[in-house]
Amino acid sequence: NKMNVAVLFGGKSGEHEVSLESAASICRAMDKDKYNIYMIGITKNGEWAYCKCTPDDMESGKWLQFEVEGSNINLIPSQSRPAGIELESGEIIKIDACFPVIHGPFGEDGTLQGIFEMASIPYVGCKVLSSSLAMDKAMFKKVMDFEGIPQVDYVSVRAYEFEKKEEDVIKMVEDMLDYPVFTKPANMGSSVGISKASDAYELASGIREALKHDSKVVIEQGINAREIEVAVLGSETVRASVPGEVLSCKDFYDYEAKYLANSSKTLIPAQLDEDVKCEIQDMAIKAFKAIDGEGISRIDFFIEKDTNRVYINEINTMPGFTKISMYPKLWDASGMPYTKLIDELIRLAIKK
Ligand code: ADP
Ligand code: MG
Ligand code: MG
Repeated sequence: NKMNVAVLFGGKSGEHEVSLESAASICRAMDKDKYNIYMIGITKNGEWAYCKCTPDDMESGKWLQFEVEGSNINLIPSQSRPAGIELESGEIIKIDACFPVIHGPFGEDGTLQGIFEMASIPYVGCKVLSSSLAMDKAMFKKVMDFEGIPQVDYVSVRAYEFEKKEEDVIKMVEDMLDYPVFTKPANMGSSVGISKASDAYELASGIREALKHDSKVVIEQGINAREIEVAVLGSETVRASVPGEVLSCKDFYDYEAKYLANSSKTLIPAQLDEDVKCEIQDMAIKAFKAIDGEGISRIDFFIEKDTNRVYINEINTMPGFTKISMYPKLWDASGMPYTKLIDELIRLAIKK
């Protein structure tokens, strides 16, 4: 008998469009003999809709036109109404597992995961705490410090501190770091709100830009580095893929370089000495376990070009998942093809 799997897509974050592409790829590849797929879209305003759309409709953004009339997504279970998709007829489709293919805040940050926990619905990927720890770059850094996993120097600043006295914040950053520095919203992804600053003026405007997205900003020592990414998979036993390298077509890997320019390249496997490769894979698993990660994550690193030092950059608990995204490609190169990877993630979700 087939499993009922709900694929959630879209979402309220700046990464809505990326999610549509990831989710469409997943729906196309899922084994239809094993799964009944139920597509649940979340609009940019946060409205949920059960849709009978094709992956093409999803990708083109037309999915909402295919909302099933009179349907209702019930995530508040009671004795008379279990959690699931309620149809106009009153029939309730029980969901065996959810695959939340939503990136960024309100998707990858523990909030959505909290809803699944409350409704007792198994779901793919990290739980509440690990999701939010990986999403909040300031908190994540504290955990990495505690574990002794190397990372670049950083400072975090809250909106009220910056608003009270800009000069003090600038001076504090200049005391601790050297230009260039990177300014980032603490909770975001896809490089949204991130700038590189080479002087006090750019630093202040970079902080202001980041504060548009979050009330907390992380300011990091900028380094000249190769960008290496590793995919991890598993819960009790965690496997690491071969590392891959991102070759950005721009000065840094910003939103445009990631999705619009189409000329950034990935190199799989990354050309690394065997010992560096193993070091990075070990660090990836250690970092994933340090945040209590489960199921899936892509762990991103820097290798500083001058010193060859390895630093962790971040963990993405719901990385891009199109067929040409880094996470599935890393697994493909490690011997696990796309459809099998999806099976494995759903299997892990049910087990957890
Ligand atoms: P996001 O979660 O939005 O992907 P990242 O922290 O990965 O944010 O930063 C996005 C990109 O900005 C990185 O892939 C890299 O190209 C560049 N970058 C970020 N921090 C640094 C840094 N400290 N030094 C050099 N480049 C950086
Ligand atoms: Mg990220
Ligand atoms: Mg990143």
